[in-house]
Amino acid sequence: MSGRGLMVAALLAAWIFATEAVAQDTAYVRAGRLVDVVDGRLLSDRVIVIRGDRIERVAASSSIEIPDGATVIDLSDATVLPGLIDMHVHLIGDAQAQGYENLAASLPRNALHGAANARRTLEAGFTTVRNVGAGGYADVALRDAINGGDVPGPRMRVSGPSLGITGGHCDSNLLPPRFEVTADGVADGPWEIRKKLRENAKFGADLTKFCATGGVLSKGTNVGVQQYTLEEMIVIVDESHRRERKVAAHAHGTEGIRAAIEAGVDSVEHASLIDDEGIRMALERGTFLVMDIYVSDYILEAGEAAGFLAESLDKERIVGEAQRSGFRKAHEAGVRMAFGSDAGVYPHGINARQFRYMVRHGMTPMEAIQTATVHAAELLGWPDRVGAVEAGLYADLVAVAGDPTDDVSLLENPRFVMKGGEVVLRR
Ligand SMILES: [Zn+2]
Repeated sequence: MSGRGLMVAALLAAWIFATEAVAQDTAYVRAGRLVDVVDGRLLSDRVIVIRGDRIERVAASSSIEIPDGATVIDLSDATVLPGLIDMHVHLIGDAQAQGYENLAASLPRNALHGAANARRTLEAGFTTVRNVGAGGYADVALRDAINGGDVPGPRMRVSGPSLGITGGHCDSNLLPPRFEVTADGVADGPWEIRKKLRENAKFGADLTKFCATGGVLSKGTNVGVQQYTLEEMIVIVDESHRRERKVAAHAHGTEGIRAAIEAGVDSVEHASLIDDEGIRMALERGTFLVMDIYVSDYILEAGEAAGFLAESLDKERIVGEAQRSGFRKAHEAGVRMAFGSDAGVYPHGINARQFRYMVRHGMTPMEAIQTATVHAAELLGWPDRVGAVEAGLYADLVAVAGDPTDDVSLLENPRFVMKGGEVVLRR
């Protein structure tokens, strides 16, 4: 064969190989029903064309011809939704070891718990999470291990250590001074704060989490009391936004919630004791609320068995019900909401249990689903990647039996999960 003939043969072989590779790389998902979270409606008989890890096309089944021999995933008896997003999880560590029990685990052990928790979360239909607070950058390591294909898990955006004042909710207050324990994210005053945030960026954090008020699970903090000053919060937001990082503020108390919103945070987490003024401010600024309105029941039920401090149970009794009425009021007023469960306080994998609480406290099932898809994607800064079933986005899908826009608790039992075009679970 001449040199030219050889080249033609090589090109032909490459062409045949490429054609086959494309065919193998494409899958057709038949969806009996599809939740259109962008327009808030339920569609029937759709086909989702997936190429590689992305959605290529979504259309009525009558308008798509599926080629012979193509890979078809038949979910024609199910309802398909975008992969779910949880904006407030703690994957690192063991949810069953709270309080003093928590001190016994090494950082590597906690990171390995994280790997197991990541798998459970993904199999529960949550294909993306925002991890808010982890010591030693174990969250960065887990995110990278998942992205590298070493362990299965959801897409992660991570904060690294949560910033907090000395002795505040984001510090570690369990041991006396001779043990010299300070949590990784402790920073007081503008320059310590800026340095800490620069460190977080250096070591791979995607966003900022800080503690604006006391919290339920920390020792010696009062949930109602503001911790960082307004001046410090403004610095946190300035330094984070300068680096195009979103800011999530843990805040239970009324004053701390208002200060965080005034400082310009992107989301207020918990928002338990939010008042009318806080709601008005959130509306005006477009601040998201991420209200974990299931977790209270778990804390009070699991109680001491999980190692929660007695003072934590007392505090939960104060904030739990108040938070639910605040949730109803804020939603009625039209404040933007994103789904966040605080999984890690309770065992991972039951994140979806919160949906029925959201419906019980004022949302329609569709509204609750939107908080965990299209709205969460916006707060993440990833509307071009996740949160809807649309061309160009990652092929992250969940399917359930029945109609979740009628009975949202169906989301607690996904029958099918796909992340980036790969089937994670099918039953
Ligand atoms: Zn939390």
